[in-house]
Amino acid sequence: MLRTVISVSRLPAVTRRGITTTSVSSCQSQRKTTAQADNMMDIGVRKIFNSDQDMFRESARKFYNEEVKPYDEEWELTGVVPRELWRKAGSMGLIGISTPAEYGGHGGTMIDAAIAVEEQMYVNAYGPGFPIHSHIVMPYITKYGTDDQRNRFLPGMTDGSIVGSLAMTEPGAGSDLQALRTNAKKDGDDWILNGSKTFISNGILCDAVVVVALTNPQAKSTAHGLSLFIVEDGMKGFSKGKNLKKIGMKAQDTAELFFDDVRLPASSLLGEPNKGFYFLMDSLPEERLLIGIGSTSHSEWMFEETRAYVKNRTAFGKPVIEKQVVNHKLAEMKTAICITRHFIDDCLEQFKDGRLDPYSASMAKYWSSDLQNKVAYECLQLHGGWGFMNEMSIGRAYTNARVQTIYGGSNEIMKELIARQIKS
Ligand SMILES: Cc1cc2nc3c(=O)[nH]c(=O)nc-3n(C[C@H](O)[C@H](O)[C@H](O)COP(=O)(O)OP(=O)(O)OC[C@H]3O[C@@H](n4cnc5c(N)ncnc54)[C@H](O)[C@@H]3O)c2cc1C
Repeated sequence: MLRTVISVSRLPAVTRRGITTTSVSSCQSQRKTTAQADNMMDIGVRKIFNSDQDMFRESARKFYNEEVKPYDEEWELTGVVPRELWRKAGSMGLIGISTPAEYGGHGGTMIDAAIAVEEQMYVNAYGPGFPIHSHIVMPYITKYGTDDQRNRFLPGMTDGSIVGSLAMTEPGAGSDLQALRTNAKKDGDDWILNGSKTFISNGILCDAVVVVALTNPQAKSTAHGLSLFIVEDGMKGFSKGKNLKKIGMKAQDTAELFFDDVRLPASSLLGEPNKGFYFLMDSLPEERLLIGIGSTSHSEWMFEETRAYVKNRTAFGKPVIEKQVVNHKLAEMKTAICITRHFIDDCLEQFKDGRLDPYSASMAKYWSSDLQNKVAYECLQLHGGWGFMNEMSIGRAYTNARVQTIYGGSNEIMKELIARQIKS
């Protein structure tokens, strides 16, 4: 149960009295699938959710429609969303949803958290970097942090006053972690951090960055010598570079980060030294599932946007949707999206139960982000010339979608991982 937004005390009395485990589960089994829904984004569909979660979705939908959608284009010009938005989202319980309540989060599951990610995608907004903050940065601190680190960062990360980033990629090392050069050397109890990172999401806004650094260059491989550190904005020697100009996701800040003899106290080390690679490997399924959730819901949004457009747009005296070539294209897309939705929902349930394996997570990421790009291409095509205009949301969706096959482990790397299990 989410602590803030859908606490039982705020549910209508009739709902509160009516919900028992049996009634919820029988009710859930009667819910429509995405394929059966009138609109793939309808509230009240998909059996992984219940009525409490529908109420949470309603409030998340209201937030994204009122606080994000009207401003997203404006933020694309500034290249960053306002800090105030983070605090508003925090006050609505939309950040740190799956972080345990005892550490200052909302104590929900990844299924609760997926609702917020989906609703963000349903307004086609890639500006707010909440997903990476809530599902990549916060879990590292939750899982590997000391009590002091959890107390210091997680409550502020939940209320939106502390923005988090993960800094792994370097100018010369993306897919290949063996090539990492950023390093930290022991100096008494402290560590001295040197190096640089690039393409870091939330890189301009970030207050706390989880940085991957080489701490044992003598290890038999780089993987055995990596550690994680929490570097804070304002530390001497830590600087942020320019906000990188991108072809999509223009409202989200993506930056280079520089570390020049940054003196880190021992309390900045996150987890055991030289275990960083194992922590990264352990956390990657969540990141990949997160991209799967985002890609699939964005495909649903693009589909519904395009369906509405071709119903209204006329050519040769009839709505474009009447052309068989158009409605068959929609039929193909809807089938592919609905089948993908089933797999993603299954992965979500597995993750909730602690059973999601890295290979299924890789399949979820690769398949859904590939599909998202195919859907983006076809949907833009079905908008004709208007699709190519910036004022149409579908054009922005097309460029936003492009990065999904690249980050979080490129899809080529996903296939390598999937193949590893097949060969074993
Ligand atoms: C908008 C954006 C946001 C990002 N946010 C973050 C962030 O917050 N934190 C962070 O640490 N990083 C972030 N990244 C970095 C991202 O994770 C990397 O770009 C990605 O891992 C790929 O690394 P690379 O760009 O160095 O490409 P490279 O590793 O140089 O790969 C180039 C090409 O070679 C292919 N390739 C590489 N190795 C293999 C192989 N073994 N087999 C087959 N093909 C291969 C790749 O798939 C790719 O097509 C972000 C990137 C972008 C664009």
